[in-house]
Amino acid sequence: MKSDRTPESPVEFHESLSDALGVELLVKRDDLLPFPLAGNKVRKIEAELASLIRLPEVVITNGGIDSNHCRTLAFMGARRGFRVHLVLHGLQGSASAALSLLHSLGARYEIVEPHDIAPTIERLSAQYSHAGIAPHVIPGGAHTPAGAIAYRDTSSQTVAEAHPDVVIFASGTGATHGGIAAGAASVEPDPRVIGVSVARSADRGFPAVREAACWAGLPPDRELEFRDEFRDGGYGLASDATLSAVSLGWSHGLPLDPTYTGKAFAALFALTRSGEIAPGSRVLFWHTGGLWNAIAPIFTAMYGRTQSQ
Ligand SMILES: *Cc1c(COP(=O)(O)O)cnc(C)c1O
Repeated sequence: MKSDRTPESPVEFHESLSDALGVELLVKRDDLLPFPLAGNKVRKIEAELASLIRLPEVVITNGGIDSNHCRTLAFMGARRGFRVHLVLHGLQGSASAALSLLHSLGARYEIVEPHDIAPTIERLSAQYSHAGIAPHVIPGGAHTPAGAIAYRDTSSQTVAEAHPDVVIFASGTGATHGGIAAGAASVEPDPRVIGVSVARSADRGFPAVREAACWAGLPPDRELEFRDEFRDGGYGLASDATLSAVSLGWSHGLPLDPTYTGKAFAALFALTRSGEIAPGSRVLFWHTGGLWNAIAPIFTAMYGRTQSQ
């Protein structure tokens, strides 16, 4: 199993975007972690699987139909030979592409209403156990201690080597943020760490980040910065500012998506413009991946055409 482990992603200095933003910009390229281009989910799920005594026979988890978490797990199950059973919700525009990918990876799935997620997971777990197949349930988004600890370990190493003044990234269910914050806090002098919410308002999102930071060993009296003013009204919605940030990135050869990294980059853009991040600061933009979210519409267009021919 060791030889199957994911290699570490690089940190790159980005000269032309440094000039555009007026800071010294480093990018941690978790988008370059292997297919399915899901970035941080690859790191979190790898860590979760590695924390188990042996690979499970079947993994059950839940997420949106277009979820990077579910896609990544389906991919790993196909690669490593365990079954994946997904409890999905929320039919969206790119659903046919997302579902056809899950199908081709051999994952099974149920599509349910949000209130049926927990009962469906329970029912499937009972069915598998009854059939003598031990299920392992992973919480949605891979919000687990192992994921937070994996991010802490990479963060302390990355921050010690890159010594940024500021670290900024997209924050969702909390393990990435909690882990990066705990890792950064272990380095002297520790940088300012800014998690940019892509979905939840602070009152809902902050407790999950705090929980993950505790898992990763951050003392409870240490501050966490979870900014919810760049979330554009919620998950999957994108403002003009976010879309401009996405085009700015692509026009300088940094691929970004409108669901996750575009919001974090829009925040970085706004904070450098307002002076809240001082000119000349050394900024580490932690690219959390998610490029499928930028590419899926193209894939859907192709797939839709094939269907209708
Ligand atoms: C899930 C995801 C995030 C958020 O990670 P959390 O650990 O849930 O906070 C950020 N970026 C991308 C690309 C993601 O898929």
